[in-house]
Amino acid sequence: MQIDYLTLFPEMFDGVLNSSILKRARERELVKFNTINFRDYANNKHNQVDDYPFGGGQGMLLKPEPIFNAMDALETYEDTRVILMCPQGETFNQQKAESLSTAKHIVFICGHYEGYDERIREHLVTDEISIGDYVLTGGELPAMLMTDAIVRLMPGVLGNQVSHEDDSFSSGLLEHPQYTRPREFQGMKVPDILLSGDHSKIEAWRHEQSLKRTFDKRPDLLDKYPLTEKDLKTIESFKKHIEK
Ligand code: SAM
Repeated sequence: MQIDYLTLFPEMFDGVLNSSILKRARERELVKFNTINFRDYANNKHNQVDDYPFGGGQGMLLKPEPIFNAMDALETYEDTRVILMCPQGETFNQQKAESLSTAKHIVFICGHYEGYDERIREHLVTDEISIGDYVLTGGELPAMLMTDAIVRLMPGVLGNQVSHEDDSFSSGLLEHPQYTRPREFQGMKVPDILLSGDHSKIEAWRHEQSLKRTFDKRPDLLDKYPLTEKDLKTIESFKKHIEK
């Protein structure tokens, strides 16, 4: 996978792309990262990338020329995903990360100031994505956040390929509680079932705990999850427990 970032602040990416899993993925040549400062493509006297909105209004908008020119200079393919970071876009989630993890080439356009000239959105972009209902100063942090979520799903990036399949949201449920050594810490004990060595009982316990967590914290996720008859009964018992 090749990921290009069109940004006015390439230095922001240094720490994140050179640490942990993303660094390892790059070193294993599973992914290439490339930052492009689109100010270098402004082609005007003061390398100006922003201008006042026609019709008046507050703030400055990113001009089309620097971003169109930077895109022209990039090698792109028929299936390149060009992602506009934008609070008005579709909200990013695990399913979107999964679908992007099979892309060969992704370009993130990181905005700044009040927004973009609309022609960028209309003519360059395949996806418009928001990372949540709040407004940040620029698209760099959202692009890095998305990169982390996408790259860790690529085959070979995590040491143990199953380790992301159990993650919250991957299965459609939140992840069950987990424990490590010591067995007892300040009087707090690990549940006996996890020490029993009975893998089918452990799996059943974990599934029930995932259902419980999801029921307690994100009941909206249960609407989309393919619940079995047994799951439905388990959820009924959670409800009865609350009513008592
Ligand atoms: N005036 C814009 C609006 O109301 O939609 C907000 C502009 S924001 C200050 C500047 C840039 O930060 C955006 O163009 C976008 O690239 C990025 N950004 C801010 N919040 C974001 C979010 N929640 N998700 C994705 N990108 C975001």
